Amino acid sequence: MIHGKNIIGFNLSSQGSTTFQTFSPLTLEEMPELFVQATAGELEEAVNKSASAYAEYKNKSGKERADFLRLIAEEIELLGDNLIRRACAETGLPEGRITGERGRTVNQLRMFANVLEDGYWVEATIDPALPDRKPLPRADIRKMLRPVGPVVVFTASNFPLAFSTAGGDTASALAAGNPVIVKTHPYHAGTNEMVAGAIVRAAHKSNMPDGVFSSLNASDFSVGQGLVLHSKVKSVAFTGSFAGGKSLYNLAQKREDPIPVFAEMGSVNPVLLLPAKIEENVKELSATIASSINLGAGQFCTNPGVLIALKGAETEAFKRELVVNIQKLLPETMLHKNISVSFEQKTKEFFDNRVVDKLAESENEVAEMKGQPVVATVKGRDFVANPALADEIFGPFSLLIECDGEDELLKVVDSFSGQLTASVFCTSEDVQNYKSSITTIQEVVGRLIFNGVPTGVEVGYAMQHGGPYPASTDGRFTSVGVDAVKRFVRPVSFQDAPDEYLPDELKDTNPLGIWRRVDGELSKEPVKR
Ligand code: NAP
Repeated sequence: MIHGKNIIGFNLSSQGSTTFQTFSPLTLEEMPELFVQATAGELEEAVNKSASAYAEYKNKSGKERADFLRLIAEEIELLGDNLIRRACAETGLPEGRITGERGRTVNQLRMFANVLEDGYWVEATIDPALPDRKPLPRADIRKMLRPVGPVVVFTASNFPLAFSTAGGDTASALAAGNPVIVKTHPYHAGTNEMVAGAIVRAAHKSNMPDGVFSSLNASDFSVGQGLVLHSKVKSVAFTGSFAGGKSLYNLAQKREDPIPVFAEMGSVNPVLLLPAKIEENVKELSATIASSINLGAGQFCTNPGVLIALKGAETEAFKRELVVNIQKLLPETMLHKNISVSFEQKTKEFFDNRVVDKLAESENEVAEMKGQPVVATVKGRDFVANPALADEIFGPFSLLIECDGEDELLKVVDSFSGQLTASVFCTSEDVQNYKSSITTIQEVVGRLIFNGVPTGVEVGYAMQHGGPYPASTDGRFTSVGVDAVKRFVRPVSFQDAPDEYLPDELKDTNPLGIWRRVDGELSKEPVKR
């Protein structure tokens, strides 16, 4: 079923001689299929096709693009259990998790389809002409969001479906009217290929242009870097490590015409555990935190990598309970041998630092490729003095920072750089007593969660998944939810444009019947010249 070729628009291509195989964490063996890395010529062809497709695709109506997205969702569902089996085999993630991720992926595509039909997302805004205004007349000015051109999407190892080939980046870029070129992930290239096939079939069925979607294989950085540097590529979406995201961002800024790189990177997602809340139900709180640390072997960008508490009797009780819960955790399978080796190395190096102590680790057997859950502790002042302790360790790891009083707590929360999330476990009494610490942490996060763990990201209208740098390269945008589409558009104003030239969204009669801001007021009414 797996051909291992590059998908260049509607064609398959395998001109190169470099091949690679994916590795299964379940069998601890390479999978049999060979994937052919894209050559420089194939990269060129994919980008050229994408640029040609853009000319046609950008003018497809919202309804046509919505049909395309819905067909992609249908085609993914038609892949049935084969897709689930392949993704489980290539990632070691359990069937329930992959099935849930597929649901999220298709729902996301359908959500963007609904948004396209609703039309409000283009932010159509009309300032009608005021010919009699004194001392000067006002021109007729109309503005809306328009697509930008070919978008390159880098897929993440830990979400083989939802942050991969047809994940949120691809769905939002296609929704906005941009062709997409995916750089497949070498850990789950087979899963990528199956989903890419579904997209191509949907493109055929909905009469989309050849080149609206391509997918290139690579087992080294050359293809990804070549795509970012290509002058016809206009934007990049990346989900992965800080090192990867930052290096691609830097590359894009060195171009003669720098382009945006929306990189969603790692985060330690500080969790503030305030005293009255700990006292309320220490057993439940510690069990909740322990299972969030180990969820998916800790391989989430929203893993609770840092816990913060005040020294005191409540925190001592919390620590005792946490030790019991961590010791009981079952080590889960990690995504790839490289990730599992890196986790072991990084935790080992972490404990080489004399200011940290091990609080607890799982006492269950740790087989090959399993991540052993572990929690460390550090004093608040030592944490502030050692900024590297705040670096992400990708896996089931968390660091408990114990603060000696409120001033130290404030210094600790003030020391964080940008994060995707922060959680605050608190009662209303805690909120009153520690308001300045809560407000300080809010400054560096994209999402502030009350009495909830950071793992689990709802896909909707109000979600913000993206924080200030270094959690993301541009904290003004989200990679999850409806507003993800805003990364791949630019506003264009039309001044005194004849009605027949204007896009439907801005025409006098409002043929799409969408909400528009006319002279400052939301309206669906036609406008008069
Ligand atoms: P990764 O190692 O950075 O890889 C991501 C992709 O980027 C891979 O295809 C990789 O290619 C490519 N890449 C990395 N560095 C590159 C470079 N310098 N030049 C060109 N291409 C490069 O990350 P990962 O292991 O897939 O994912 C785990 C990380 O993602 C964790 O840090 C996690 O927190 C983060 N993550 C963030 C979010 C979020 O929404 N913020 C979501 C999920 C995961 P190769 O595979 O060929 O190296």
